[in-house]
Amino acid sequence: MPTVAYPFKKGLYLNITNRCPTACRFCIKRILKWRFERWDFRLRGEPTTAQILAASAAAAGRRSFAEVVFCGYGESTYRLPDLPELCRGLRRQQAGARLRLNTIGLGSLIWGRDIAPELAGLIDAAAVSLNTADPEQWLAIHTPLKPFRARGYESVLGFIRSCVAAGLETTVTAVKLPGTDLPAVRRLASSLGASFRSRPAL
Ligand code: SF4
Repeated sequence: MPTVAYPFKKGLYLNITNRCPTACRFCIKRILKWRFERWDFRLRGEPTTAQILAASAAAAGRRSFAEVVFCGYGESTYRLPDLPELCRGLRRQQAGARLRLNTIGLGSLIWGRDIAPELAGLIDAAAVSLNTADPEQWLAIHTPLKPFRARGYESVLGFIRSCVAAGLETTVTAVKLPGTDLPAVRRLASSLGASFRSRPAL
């Protein structure tokens, strides 16, 4: 059975779509063949909002989590129309938990409008996987699909700025990859008003 919700560290993580605008070099769905620990993240069709909420309730059991994270093996903003109902349900299930979106940052380009103000009414925090401060290297690392190549990098920077302006707790993240300049990513994050976190590659 594919995994839609799973507890990991202090969070309850959600895998709500497998759609992606990129094929990131570091993606664990490629490296680990869609698996992580005991879970299988290859969805057979996208779960409905009701199915996601049922899965999160089942995965949580009686536990309370510090945060609920839209993560998964896909870009969760593809499910933007479902997020209002989903977030309301999650806030009922996990009162007091922080709702965080882990994203590649292309949601505004996917939808053709700035989605950060919409997200700000739903979630608390956004962690944007930027990984480099170099636009050419961004293309090489993330290999975006054709519609996301020309304006992708600039759009991610705009999305980060917009998340900050909308009041979301915004973190730029970078996987430690050979040849990337993490201090430069940190400086860029700071110039955009976001905090910065690096994380190890698998
Ligand atoms: S956006 Fe996430 S799920 Fe999609 S390819 Fe990149 S790392 Fe993998």
